[in-house]
Amino acid sequence: MDKRRFLQALGALGAAGLAPACATSPAPPAFDRDPFALGVASGYPAADGVVLWTRLVTDPGAPGGGLDPVPVRVGWEVARDEAMREVVLRGTTTADPAWAHAVHVEARGLAPDRWYWYRFTAGDARSPVGRTRTAPAAGAAVARLRFVFASCQHYETGYYGAWRHAAADAPDLVAFLGDYIYESSGARNPVRQHGAGETYTLDEYRARYARYRSDADLQAAHAACPWIVTWDDHEVDNDYAGAQPEDDMPPGEFLLRRAAAYRAYYEHMPLPAAMRPNGLRMRIHTALDWGALARFHVLDDRQYRDVQACLRPGQAGGSNTVDVASCPALADAGRSLLGREQERWLEASLASSPAGWNILAQQTPLAQFDQQPGPGRRAWTDGWDGYPAARRRLLEYLAAARVANPFAIGGDVHVFTAADLKPDFDDAASPVVASEVACTAISSRSWPQERVDPFLADNPHIKLIDARRRGYARAEITARGLAVDLRGMQSVAAPDAACDTTASFFVAAGRAGIERA
Ligand code: FE
Ligand code: CA
Repeated sequence: MDKRRFLQALGALGAAGLAPACATSPAPPAFDRDPFALGVASGYPAADGVVLWTRLVTDPGAPGGGLDPVPVRVGWEVARDEAMREVVLRGTTTADPAWAHAVHVEARGLAPDRWYWYRFTAGDARSPVGRTRTAPAAGAAVARLRFVFASCQHYETGYYGAWRHAAADAPDLVAFLGDYIYESSGARNPVRQHGAGETYTLDEYRARYARYRSDADLQAAHAACPWIVTWDDHEVDNDYAGAQPEDDMPPGEFLLRRAAAYRAYYEHMPLPAAMRPNGLRMRIHTALDWGALARFHVLDDRQYRDVQACLRPGQAGGSNTVDVASCPALADAGRSLLGREQERWLEASLASSPAGWNILAQQTPLAQFDQQPGPGRRAWTDGWDGYPAARRRLLEYLAAARVANPFAIGGDVHVFTAADLKPDFDDAASPVVASEVACTAISSRSWPQERVDPFLADNPHIKLIDARRRGYARAEITARGLAVDLRGMQSVAAPDAACDTTASFFVAAGRAGIERA
């Protein structure tokens, strides 16, 4: 448009009509430091689009991230090439101080099954370029999906070198399975520090996320591909269950703390608008399709669960390790880890799945883990072992509904595990109906190997427990089956350590059971 036609068009709009729009639009920002200090991210790829994320921050540790509490206009663009020459979509949005200047853009109208690049602008500042992709079209035949899953990244106990290696693998997707931040501080012999104590308020949770998100290796993994995410307990409070905290904070008060934590979670993750917190709640369980190849059923095992069974004496909540025979509450079929509503949603999601593979993306291992060598069984009440009737319901459903190739991915325990899943783990004749791999922690500490080895004989369905390494898991689904490499860091005490594959497992398509590859 030339200048004359531009002025004519402007005149047609009317100066009176323009004035209020100008008056209410955000002032052009001037930043004394890079406002994209937390990097960029994308998430929840659909066949026609993806969520793009950033949060404007000039000083990650400061309240408000160092920005004045005024709205800031942010531009975004999506291109077909890394140099951002072939822009296919662009727009503007507002970074609202009420949402910590976080930006969530749902970029729609993209082509299925291809890579894109994106970036943001604010004032004269420009973000790094992120790489993302769309999912294949509904029902499309897909030759291969490569994804990484990971969990548990306590900032104080290790560097995030695992993320640098995961990004270098160039996966199609990352599934993060909980403990993105840790609310508690004060690890012994830390390699680096939170610089603040336990988080309770919205500002404290925001500052904790900003601290984690300042890490260059974590930023690289977010910029490498889209993520799907779920949370576990440490995004709020250790071992919480629904409205019940681990300690004796009254549930009403705790729900306000939880709402602050959930809001900060939304502000820092590439989540769709449909997951925005709604009052005290925030619905994050969802399904995501990868053409005809896979459906991810992303679960929330914290928000709707019943309080743990057989609490420690004098405790209002939290986990325990109990002798199963002396904890009859464990057998109560009324208790649920997902909540009955989410259980019904999951059954519908599994029943309607058109996919060749059904991935249960959730927090904690499903396999029973007996911690009492020899006769008798001891169980940890915070994981699925604390909700065995609900677990059996789920595993029996997988068989009864003939769900295609169910495979669970989890984290939480800070060790690698690979296991077969059976409705009755105590019955050698109970059929294998699914299998699972839980990834070790990105950086959080675990028990030593010597502590888990004595339990292996009592858990024949568990093929491996490797507590020696931190790292991530790398999976590939093809027509043949699902292959998983357990990727272990040599060390997390140094930022530049090497990573290698410590073991590989394989599940053949159409045949339940995991094997060492
Ligand atoms: Fe953890
Ligand atoms: Ca035993």
